[in-house]
Amino acid sequence: MSLKRELLYEGKAKKIYRETSEKVFVEYKDSLTAFNAQKLGSFEGKGIVNRNITVLLYKYLEGQGVKTHFISAEEPNGIVATEVKIIPLEIVVRNILAGSTAKKFNIEEGRILERPLVEFYFKNDELGDPFISDDQAVALKVVSGPEIPQLKEIALKVNSALRVLFAKANLQLVDFKIEVGADSKGQLLLADEITPDCCRLWDVRTQEKFDKDRFRRDLGRVKESYEEVLKRLENALGVTK
Ligand code: UDP
Repeated sequence: MSLKRELLYEGKAKKIYRETSEKVFVEYKDSLTAFNAQKLGSFEGKGIVNRNITVLLYKYLEGQGVKTHFISAEEPNGIVATEVKIIPLEIVVRNILAGSTAKKFNIEEGRILERPLVEFYFKNDELGDPFISDDQAVALKVVSGPEIPQLKEIALKVNSALRVLFAKANLQLVDFKIEVGADSKGQLLLADEITPDCCRLWDVRTQEKFDKDRFRRDLGRVKESYEEVLKRLENALGVTK
């Protein structure tokens, strides 16, 4: 990583540097965290594999009409992206019940939902990213009223496009989290990352997990699973190296 760039922000899995007046350089780190950073880990090459998955998915999504902050892939573990103001919501889409919502309603993981479910969580580590309703998000000025349907539309569009791609990779897209930001003109762009850190991906045939649950639940083979996701996506998209 170039020492010339000014560090703007360091998060759990990424560092953001100033690139130019309206662009940032996003560096993907090797660290892994779960349960609001109470569980810490890492593996060598994670930043590179997650960066490669994100780049591949952003390019694919752009081709499907989803606007993202991605500009170019730079250095093995970085991208140059449009600078955005992140809306402090974790936007979760679920196709199959798992994780927190399954637990909350005491439903066994794996129930297929008739229609994808979009949920918002308020991005605030101190509060533990609590669920926030649409009305709460507007009343607390986390988003404007008109942005709610826009965010849901983006989330559902990303979901339908990704489901098709992951199916070609023999993976079920169980659920995922995205973040959206506004550029200097107020245009909403998909930002942050899409990686096995923020998706649940189950093998279509065996239901084996290929995502961060391997780390959260101590299932082993974390690095191998992330690498397998990248390999399957490259095959599904016919990417030649
Ligand atoms: N997720 C995420 N960051 C978070 C919370 C959730 O990327 O801070 C992702 C998570 O990996 C999963 C989806 O969003 O793919 C739904 O997560 P859930 O609400 O079930 O929470 P969890 O079980 O991860 O606590």
